[in-house]
Amino acid sequence: MLLNNALLLVLLILAVAAGWTLGRSGLRMDLAGRAQLPSQYYRGFNFLLDGEEEGAVDAFTEALAVNEETLDTHIALGSVLRKRGEVDRAIRIHQNLLKRPQLSAVQLHQSHLELARDFIAAGLYDRAEQLLVDLAAQSSEFSATAQRHLLDVYEAQRDWSAAVAIAEELIALAESEGQSAAGHGQPAQQLRGHYLCEQAENAHGFGDYKAAKSFYEQALRDQPQELRALMGLVRCALKDTDRPSAMKYFSRVMESNRRCTPEILGLLRDVCSAEPYSDVYLSSLQRYYSQQSSPLLALALAEELSRQKGNEAASLFLRSTLDQYPSASVAASLALNALESQDSQPERDVLDELIRNDHGYQCDHCGFTVKTRHWRCPGCRHWDSLHYRGGALEQLNGG
Ligand SMILES: [Zn+2]
Repeated sequence: MLLNNALLLVLLILAVAAGWTLGRSGLRMDLAGRAQLPSQYYRGFNFLLDGEEEGAVDAFTEALAVNEETLDTHIALGSVLRKRGEVDRAIRIHQNLLKRPQLSAVQLHQSHLELARDFIAAGLYDRAEQLLVDLAAQSSEFSATAQRHLLDVYEAQRDWSAAVAIAEELIALAESEGQSAAGHGQPAQQLRGHYLCEQAENAHGFGDYKAAKSFYEQALRDQPQELRALMGLVRCALKDTDRPSAMKYFSRVMESNRRCTPEILGLLRDVCSAEPYSDVYLSSLQRYYSQQSSPLLALALAEELSRQKGNEAASLFLRSTLDQYPSASVAASLALNALESQDSQPERDVLDELIRNDHGYQCDHCGFTVKTRHWRCPGCRHWDSLHYRGGALEQLNGG
């Protein structure tokens, strides 16, 4: 913190001195017309001599006149303070900018945007929302950026219907003016899909399966292969004891090219346990494995083969996969099956642990690792950026 303050002070002193040297902008003139440094400049040095660095930063900031040339310096300073967690001081700097009548409309809008960012950082969502709604309506330059920040506000408040409305405006903007007009960040269609899934899960939690189904179906409008919505529709169909629909939606999960995970496998088990025929799970696993030859599916298929046709059939199948898809988990499972004597119990326990445990997910965006599926990364707040890393042996093998 001390180093950061010292750096800030040096930059501020240089900025004020540069303003004084280059055109003496914003400096008072004495009776003889000579430029004078503002009193805050000397006050800043007094704070420095007293060892009060924070007071010195504030005084030098006040000494730095607001005009077209120094606006970027003020905004950069406010942004640095916000990122350091000193949101109150960032708010003071940006509110100070808004009092200046000499700034152009674009510069005022830029200052509004920064202030809204400060309010979001401070958790003052109502105040940020008001600023951003006005900005989205009034500024053509910052409209898409303001709407992106409005999404941050509504996501933080879990106001999913308001978030859907803004995502739809961004989608319309992108369609009418090109993708760049919709601002940076994840595609608005993907965000809209997740907001609708959030609404669906809330409805599902209240037992309103009809509303949940409707939200999930809307989520599929722009993204027909959206995994989260398809999984939700499988669950809704199971609640309705509508087995054909459950299997129909699960087939779309299988065809979606998304990697099978333990929770997807659990869902398939639920779908098949609702079926009257005992071999549906085995035939479904065989169909799934023919589309996606992952170790997780191979092991699940072998387990079911073992249950229905015996250990020999399971081992034969697992061994047949290794040539084309070498997998440490599958090899370990075969080794485990071969250990049958009572003396081999410790080795069995270790192999069993390695095959079955430590399934995990990792964020493609920030690298955050987590044990269970989250639709939004707890680390970087990206939607659907966590990919399944497999079990412990797959992770050691690099996936
Ligand atoms: Zn992340």
